[in-house]
Amino acid sequence: MSLLILKNGAVSFADFLRDHAKWLRGMQWIIVAAYAFLLIVPALLPLPGRTASVFNNLTVFAQFAFWGIWWPFVLVSMPLMGRAWCGWFCPEGMLSEWASGHGRGRAIPKWMRWGGWPFVAFSLTTIYGQLVSVYQYPWAVLAVLGGSTLAAMLVGWLYGRNKRVWCKYLCPVNGVFNLLAKLAPWHYKVNEDAWRHPERRTETINCAPLVPLRHMQGASDCHMCGRCSDYRGAIQLTPRSPEAEIVRVANGDGWQTALIVFGLMGLAVGAFLWSASPWFVVVKQAAATWLVNHDVYWPLEQNAPWFLLTHYPEVNDSFSWLDGSVIVLFIVGAAVCLGGPVFLGLWAADKVLPPLRMPGVKDSSGAPIAKASRGIHDMALGLIPAAGAGVFLGLSATTLTLLQHEGVSIAWASALRFGVLGLAMLWSMRLVWRITSSRTASSGSRLNALLLVALGTIPYCVAWALFFAVW
Ligand code: SF4
Repeated sequence: MSLLILKNGAVSFADFLRDHAKWLRGMQWIIVAAYAFLLIVPALLPLPGRTASVFNNLTVFAQFAFWGIWWPFVLVSMPLMGRAWCGWFCPEGMLSEWASGHGRGRAIPKWMRWGGWPFVAFSLTTIYGQLVSVYQYPWAVLAVLGGSTLAAMLVGWLYGRNKRVWCKYLCPVNGVFNLLAKLAPWHYKVNEDAWRHPERRTETINCAPLVPLRHMQGASDCHMCGRCSDYRGAIQLTPRSPEAEIVRVANGDGWQTALIVFGLMGLAVGAFLWSASPWFVVVKQAAATWLVNHDVYWPLEQNAPWFLLTHYPEVNDSFSWLDGSVIVLFIVGAAVCLGGPVFLGLWAADKVLPPLRMPGVKDSSGAPIAKASRGIHDMALGLIPAAGAGVFLGLSATTLTLLQHEGVSIAWASALRFGVLGLAMLWSMRLVWRITSSRTASSGSRLNALLLVALGTIPYCVAWALFFAVW
């Protein structure tokens, strides 16, 4: 009964969204105005002094709005609501679609369809953000967010017609949102029979993020705009188990694995941890000593422009070339040292399980085709809750720092952080356990695989424990 109410409510809500697209667009323009204001105006103001606070300084307010609230809670919204952020609120996606409606309408080039962009764009943006201190300085925010928005508009203007080509292929967080939305408890479900025999709504609709509607199986690519609600009488917003897409649809691939394992569980952790790590200081001092002993001084100079490395001498905060190099080394090192064991754990788990059977696909002898490599990738999807929780906790560190600066006690934060990470790890292990059931019925083999995956995540957990409790 309650499921029926939920289902009917979801359908009505999706129809409401579909029928009020103009309201949605109006709200998006208001968000664009607020976004542009918080992006541009702080960059025109002097840097805030020591006593500046969220309540009396626009720059600090914008910092809190962007990095303390907006970014961490956009991430949280993905497993709760799917990519509703992208379809309802994102100023960048909306501007890209708007520009696409007034642009050249060219075909999407082949290079843009490369599957590695989500990983590469996320990695480069994460590293660049750290080099220019994007969480601290409005010019850096303008370079990172503003640059991304301009690129989104340019891509929209050049390619597609009323489409979100940027969001689909190049947005630096598209891959992360795509992964987290797999956990959403609702999605637009396609009824194949109804699609083949449509009774209503057969006129063409515009799915801006280019989702192949008929074959849509999950929530990963969908921006939840509602335009396709009831299309051909076949598509409905439908509640589902948050585990359904990962366990039943899966479809992991190498680039998604790279993003989960080396991106979210490696590189992103390094980006959050370097500034708190005593190891960073040790490596930097050792390198500086070596350089001085060899009469090489230029890497110690702090003369890089602000858009390459942090450079704000007026507040005594500038990076030398050595600082920048060691930051990159630390972040890439974290990707290898934390992501490497996770990947090894998945690889070993895949080895102790029988080869993956692809239902319905047979080889020439009539036996189901074994595709061991996708087995790793499907299992990696089970780590999405752990990886997503890590990124949320890292981002919320900025929220906590800003709250602390406002005089709010954060004594409760450690327990909450360990709790969130612990629950996310448990959820991930449960997902991996369920995924292994498609490989074998043997509980022993499944348990071995689960243990190997769990072992691989130990350095990742230790890194967060150091950050929360030791450093
Ligand atoms: S599939 Fe496309 S049209 Fe349908 S709700 Fe998602 S984004 Fe909108």
